[in-house]
Amino acid sequence: MNSRSKPSCRLVVVGGGISGLAAAHRLLEGASRLNQAIRLDLLEAGRRLGGVIHTVREQGFLLEGGPDSFISEKPWAVDLCRRLGLETSLIATSPLHRRTFILRGGKLLPVPEGFHLIAPYRFGSFAASPLLSWAGKIRMAADLVLPRRRRLSTGEDESLAAFVRRRLGEEALERLAQPLVGGIYTADPEKLGLRATFPQFLEMEQRHRSLLLAMWRDRKRQPSPAEDHAAGPRYGLFLSLDQGMQRLVERLRESIPAPSIHLGCKVVSLRRHDQARNWEIELEKGPPIQADGICLALPAHRSAGLLEGLDPDLAAKLRRVEHASTATVNLAYSAEDIPAALDGFGFLVPALEKGAMLACSYSHRKFAGRAPGSGALLRAFVGGALHPETLECNDRELIARVRRTLGELLGISRAPLLSRVERHPEGMPQYGVGHLDLVAWIESRTLQWPSLQLAGNGLTGIGIPDCIRRAEQCADRLLARISRRAP
Ligand SMILES: Cc1cc2nc3c(=O)[nH]c(=O)nc-3n(C[C@H](O)[C@H](O)[C@H](O)COP(=O)(O)OP(=O)(O)OC[C@H]3O[C@@H](n4cnc5c(N)ncnc54)[C@H](O)[C@@H]3O)c2cc1C
Repeated sequence: MNSRSKPSCRLVVVGGGISGLAAAHRLLEGASRLNQAIRLDLLEAGRRLGGVIHTVREQGFLLEGGPDSFISEKPWAVDLCRRLGLETSLIATSPLHRRTFILRGGKLLPVPEGFHLIAPYRFGSFAASPLLSWAGKIRMAADLVLPRRRRLSTGEDESLAAFVRRRLGEEALERLAQPLVGGIYTADPEKLGLRATFPQFLEMEQRHRSLLLAMWRDRKRQPSPAEDHAAGPRYGLFLSLDQGMQRLVERLRESIPAPSIHLGCKVVSLRRHDQARNWEIELEKGPPIQADGICLALPAHRSAGLLEGLDPDLAAKLRRVEHASTATVNLAYSAEDIPAALDGFGFLVPALEKGAMLACSYSHRKFAGRAPGSGALLRAFVGGALHPETLECNDRELIARVRRTLGELLGISRAPLLSRVERHPEGMPQYGVGHLDLVAWIESRTLQWPSLQLAGNGLTGIGIPDCIRRAEQCADRLLARISRRAP
């Protein structure tokens, strides 16, 4: 509560993940700037803040159970870190070992230098790479002569799989695009809508006709080998925090007055309230809360549950955003127990290799401070839209399966010093074909209630910077509304 004047406005944020915390922080920042008295409440169902962000320290290892980094190209997370005084805690990926491997036929093959997401911008190393057969490479090269598809009309969309198959061929889809691009969303590329996830590929085709030409013409904007001796993701763009991602959560928590934060407080529904306040929030336990404005910072399917009574059509549309379940399996070792050189940041497993995992990060190679001097930390990513069955087993079996795969690929036979599984049931939204139309419908439907804002990762971006941006926009809209109100 702002101490300068009597509270005149009660704002509630539901959900204490990065979206809810960023919204709450922005509401406090904005209210102070506007000299507007507010009472703020952040309601979180769980016993801790952070949502899927969860860093654990154990035996000198720093284990990330959820996200381990964010991209700096989208500025909103970096901006927030700066405003929170965390600038000096930001760390970039380590300059050494910047490369990724992809599994093919039981072997880990490096993504060739100068390859970005779905196509190379340097052709020499790609031509020499065994990641694709010659037939696959020749089919990819056909992109140079294939005509561009007619411009998609408004509302038309295409799946990642259809697009890559059309331009670059089936092998490029199965061996490169699915693990490198689809893997970011842990998605089925046949369902992943390009417009909402990688619109730049559609734009490249429209502007340059050929993706390979587009990459080649754009190569000056790509890092030089000296700057980023990298393949696959552009590693120089990824940032984390020296104490792990949880540091951002802690700093946000510190910026919000303790009495505003309510843990173990699950919201079950929202109702319009026609008296003094706009909304009545029903809780699983305890009396309802009245609020002038609400920001729902929840996964789309959770927001749907709360809005069912208010607007069943809106709830139904929110439920159309599908979600995949994933888990991370952190395994800490003594470095001498790993026979393989681990000369990279990790590897990706194409779905057709039928491995136990989607990807594995060599966390101690990727960021400094993840393992003590003689330690090595491996983090497997499992489940996703293409492998939901992996998550049916219990933690012990999951660890055993991951260990078996690491044994085959990296020659590790010793037991890890410690292991930790963290599950994220329905934690990864899947932006399907036509997602942008769905979002447009939802945005226009909710315009009727300017005092109700929908944040979270279900609509306009799943990455941490996108979640922060949306949460801050929601907070700004609530503030704009209350600052216009008569005193
Ligand atoms: C395993 C994994 C790895 C990822 N890796 C990366 C990465 O490296 N980089 C990146 O940028 N992004 C990554 N992402 C995506 C990104 O982390 C998430 O999209 C983002 O953190 C979601 O934050 P959120 O606050 O919107 O949702 P959540 O983190 O899901 O938080 C929602 C909160 O709402 C609470 N809640 C739910 N229902 C209720 C209710 N009824 N009442 C009150 N509270 C409720 C939940 O308990 C939870 O705390 C990853 C995601 C996962 C799952």
